[in-house]
Amino acid sequence: MEFDVYVGIGSNLEDPVEQCLEARTRLAEAEGVSLIRSSSLYRSEPVGFSEQDWFVNAVCHLRTELDAHDLLRALQGIERDMGKRVPFRWGPRIIDLDLLLYGDQTIDESGLQVPHPRMHERRFVLQPMVEIAPSVEHPLLKVSMEKLLFRLGEGQKVELIER
Ligand code: AMP
Repeated sequence: MEFDVYVGIGSNLEDPVEQCLEARTRLAEAEGVSLIRSSSLYRSEPVGFSEQDWFVNAVCHLRTELDAHDLLRALQGIERDMGKRVPFRWGPRIIDLDLLLYGDQTIDESGLQVPHPRMHERRFVLQPMVEIAPSVEHPLLKVSMEKLLFRLGEGQKVELIER
């Protein structure tokens, strides 16, 4: 049994574009995971703690036979191998991988919440989601990614990186 999964990638330390691309390659090469499609890269204003560099973000559509917990462990293994250290909540990071959607499953445990609890209020998630999966529904809100993006107020700046 395989599941369609969406993973958010972010970085704002050292060489964020390079690290996002490397994370994408590592996701594509992870055991039990195939990369179906990846969004463009976006540059986004930091949310939560603004005294830090802008982030680079992307979203990948994966297909996997791993269950959600094993997939999260795989994501955390990639973060660790790439040297992730986070000095404080919302702070700068060399790489961040978030499990956004795991099929239409909902999981609410202390170490794993799916859909990612803040995805629907983050333009840096919704804009790349809409590029690759505009009609996918949020399993709790029952609203498409396109509608969620439309509903967001102005404020968070997210810019496409032309490559
Ligand atoms: P952060 O460093 O901000 O990415 O937070 C990572 C922490 O969030 C880890 O302890 C994870 O167990 C937890 N977590 C809960 N739900 C998720 C999710 N959907 N994707 C990634 N991490 C999650």
